[in-house]
Order: sequence, then structure tokens, then C-alpha cells
Amino acid sequence: MRFSRIITATLSVASSRAFTIPRNSFSSSTRLFQSVPKLTDPSFLMDQVDVFIFDCDGVIWRGDSLIDGIPDTLEKLRAAGKRLFFVTNNSTKSRKGYKKKFDSLGLSNVPAEEIFSSSFAAAAYLEKTQFAATNKKVYVIGEMGICEELDLIGVPYLGGPADKDSVADMGPGGMLHVDESVGAVVVGFDRHINYYKIQYAQLCINELGAEFIATNLDAVTHLTDAQEWAGNGSMVGAIKGCTGQEPTVVGKPSPLMIDYMEQKFGFDRSRICMVGDRLDTDVLFGKDNGLKSLLVLSGVTSEEKLLSPENKIKPDFYAETINDFFSQVPAESKT
Ligand SMILES: [Mg+2]
Repeated sequence: MRFSRIITATLSVASSRAFTIPRNSFSSSTRLFQSVPKLTDPSFLMDQVDVFIFDCDGVIWRGDSLIDGIPDTLEKLRAAGKRLFFVTNNSTKSRKGYKKKFDSLGLSNVPAEEIFSSSFAAAAYLEKTQFAATNKKVYVIGEMGICEELDLIGVPYLGGPADKDSVADMGPGGMLHVDESVGAVVVGFDRHINYYKIQYAQLCINELGAEFIATNLDAVTHLTDAQEWAGNGSMVGAIKGCTGQEPTVVGKPSPLMIDYMEQKFGFDRSRICMVGDRLDTDVLFGKDNGLKSLLVLSGVTSEEKLLSPENKIKPDFYAETINDFFSQVPAESKT
């Protein structure tokens, strides 16, 4: 009796998210006591999803290594008529730069149009707000990815890699002169951030009233696979600290990229599934924007962390990797 009540309660929560989850989609009876079901029978996911949005690092690859089985899985999804998109918060590369990475990993059939980096999101935001019509410039804290995307939309910019070694005059009476036509500051991950760039951005925002735009707020990133490294949250934090302003965030979990896709392709959000390895960006992006969400354990989030009572960000499902989309996992074979 008690057991059937738990089944009913679990299905009731699931159906409130417009899901139909058959009982055999849970990996084992013990999973019914957990807050997030593990994907074991993926057929219903295939039935209810037309569009998959994949995070890249931890889902498609880890660092510079492709995760086993991914090309085959992507091919099967395409053969099943699914639309695929690849969304990354990393702004150091443009879409063209990411296309090269996909090619180098043997995923040459992924077209640039399916790739959405936060550098592209920054450019898409400037287009949406008709920044080019103001005839103003952008000051960039960030790398080539942002600069290349700004070139593509014809918006002039300063800073970025060009200010890698710049030093302001900090002697008596010294000051930094800024270009008064700067109308926006875009802050992305920058391995060469320095005091000059911070001061330039501070003057543009505080004195010129330039808009403060952040590609993303990730606390840490995986610059190498040996440890976690300070992410773009640290660069954005420096500018927040000297301006007292909150940025407009364009990467995950902000809705900008999904709004763009909805407008451009006319997708029904309820038939889109966000797939990622991070709770605070990928899964939150899915949940905040009315998408289905699935966490994979092939990246930074462990099963223990996902299922721990302290975790408040719950995906609709989780799986070991996206290869599980095409494998029926026997209910009792996984722990
Ligand atoms: Mg990731």
C-alpha cells in the first residue's frame, strides 16, 4: 500500500511537468525513493522530444577528448529526425572556432549553425538590441571568440587580446583615457585579464554609462583536466566590484539563447530537452526556460551530488552518458 502511494506521488510530480513517465523508466524499485529518476527506457524520451540541446564539455567531450560512442549516438538521433544544438558557455572561441574543434574530434557533420557559444550569444544580444544603429563601440574583456563574433555583425570593438600587455599611467597625475564612443562592455573568460582592462571597463560603465554585458557567470572552468580554474565569474566579479552594477548575462542559464532559437526556428519549448553535466547552468537553464532537462554523469556532477538532499536543482532525468538514449538498461544491472 505504502509502495503504491509512493509510485502515485512520484508520477504526480512528474505529470505536473507535462511528462508521461512509464514505471519501467526507473532503474530499480529503490530509485522510486529518490528525487530524480534515472533513464533506463529511453523510448518515451524519444517520443516526447524533437530537439536536443547539448552542453559540450562533459557531454560530448572532456577537455580535448571525445567521449566514447558519441558520434554514433548523434548519428542515430539525426536518423530519428531529431534537431540537435550544441550550447557552450565558453566564450574563448567563436562558432567558427568551435566548428574547428568539432571537426578535429571527428564530428565534421556538425554544422556551425548548430553551435551556440556564449561569444555568439553576446553578439546576438547586441543585434537584438540594435546596438549597431547607435554607432558605438564595444570594450571587450575576453578572447578572440568575442572579437570574431563582433566582426561578423559589424560592431567595432576595442580591448580583448590587444590589451593583453597594456599598462595605464599610474604615476602622479596619471590617468587612463577611454574612447568616448564605447557604448557597451562585454566581459568573457580572459586568460590575460589585467588592471588596465578592469580600469578601462570601470570608466566606460561608470563615466560613459556603457552597458555591462557578461557572457556567463560560471564560478570555475576546466582550463586543464588537472584541477578547477577560476571561471568567468571571477572576471565579472571584478567589474561588479568597481561599478556596483549587475550585468546582463547572455549565456546559460539566461533565456537569451532559447529565445533566439524559438524565434528563429519556431520550436515548441515543451518538446526541447536540455542535456548537460552541470546543475547550476545546464539543468537550471532547462528548468528556468520551460524545457525538459537531463543530467549526464559524464562530466562534473557525481550521482552522489545530484541525489543529495542538499541539491535543490533537480533535472527531470539523469543518465550515465547520452549513449544511454539508445540502450535499454536492465533495471537491476546498475547501482
Ligand atoms: Mg559542461
